[in-house]
Amino acid sequence: MVVVMAPGATDEDVANVVARVEAMGGEAFVSKGLSRTIIGLVGDVAAFHHLNLRTLRGVADVHRISDPYKLVSRQHHAERSTVRIGPAGRQVPIGPETCTLIAGPCAVESREQMLEAAQMSRSAGAGLLRGGAFMPRTSPYAFQGLGLKGLEILADVGEATGMPVVTEVVDARDVGVVAEYADLLQVGARNMGNTGLLQAVGEAGRPVLLKRGPSATLEEWLMAAEYVAQRGNLDIVLCERGIRTFETSYRNTLDLSAVPAVQATSHLPVVVDPSHAAGRQDLVVPLARASIAVGADGVMVDVHPFPDQALCDGPQALDGTALRELATAVRRLPPALGRRTGAPDRSPA
Ligand code: PEP
Ligand code: MN
Repeated sequence: MVVVMAPGATDEDVANVVARVEAMGGEAFVSKGLSRTIIGLVGDVAAFHHLNLRTLRGVADVHRISDPYKLVSRQHHAERSTVRIGPAGRQVPIGPETCTLIAGPCAVESREQMLEAAQMSRSAGAGLLRGGAFMPRTSPYAFQGLGLKGLEILADVGEATGMPVVTEVVDARDVGVVAEYADLLQVGARNMGNTGLLQAVGEAGRPVLLKRGPSATLEEWLMAAEYVAQRGNLDIVLCERGIRTFETSYRNTLDLSAVPAVQATSHLPVVVDPSHAAGRQDLVVPLARASIAVGADGVMVDVHPFPDQALCDGPQALDGTALRELATAVRRLPPALGRRTGAPDRSPA
């Protein structure tokens, strides 16, 4: 941490800062320039915060040098992490080596719909199956998901098609039951700042997919991840899903800069959900291609056998034709960029 003194600060002001820092057990190194004095602080940065240094007489500014997040930062963990999803022996990696496809319907609607969507996803090269059972809908009148029944269907279909499953948990009280069925617990955009839920998934013993809040800065997103990590769970995958801007032509604005920017500061893998970013099927494949090109560690898309009949987010769901286009990108682009494709070469289940 660095304290910048105002041009008119007196020696007494400087001595006051030094005395307070030393009283907290820290060290203060004073550097006098021609017009300004700066003071470098070494020690417990969290403790220095309690000093409210900015309010002291003669202090112009205070800068942090280290990241406010610790466990998810690359400052203390330079190597980028791979998170492995699913039971031992059939784990699907998400990390720097591969680009993994996660696909499935927005919501689990029925066993037939789920099975069909899963088979489509699997033949497109998906490693993981998605499907919402507890749905965080904007409207309380919209389909809220099948709940426990949805979890059962999702887990059965994942088992039958050989894909670990990811589903959202919206309430801290449901974390236990969702963790019984899901291999990867999703915390949705609307809940990114729900610290009680973040702590609960941090203790659930399952990897976590943490979506970025629609108006969260990268630092706020990483601080949310720190809540999960601080409860002992470092198996966290971050998911960029678009942020709210002035543009209304699509649901959200996909912030692709976030992918390399977060990868530079955090060791956690970063995947992209172009479906919830765009809210429009025609943009999903182009944005998925761009996500792979920018270095995303995975792509998550909505798939539905009959998008026009979907109970949730039909307009953004890929049908068979669009999914085949995506499959081609997922097969070809990662190798062209020196990465292994996350799409295993499999025939339809
Ligand atoms: C979802 O993935 O089903 C979802 C609701 O996404 P988001 O939280 O990004 O809106
Ligand atoms: Mn959705």
